[in-house]
Amino acid sequence: MSEPTPEIVAEEKPTSFSVFYSCMRCGTQVSQSELTRLPEIKCICGFRVFTKVRPPVVKTIKAF
Ligand SMILES: [Zn+2]
Repeated sequence: MSEPTPEIVAEEKPTSFSVFYSCMRCGTQVSQSELTRLPEIKCICGFRVFTKVRPPVVKTIKAF
């Protein structure tokens, strides 16, 4: 028995997912469609600089 639990982790959705943006300050990832719904491009922390991230290719890179 497994309930459908929608998660924001986009691992195998090549086409249906739009571009994601990651906040440069706190790292919160927001989808592009979510950003466009906002009155202004702004993170929840108030920062306004985002970097583009690609949701389909989720690779865990440990660099330490
Ligand atoms: Zn932020």
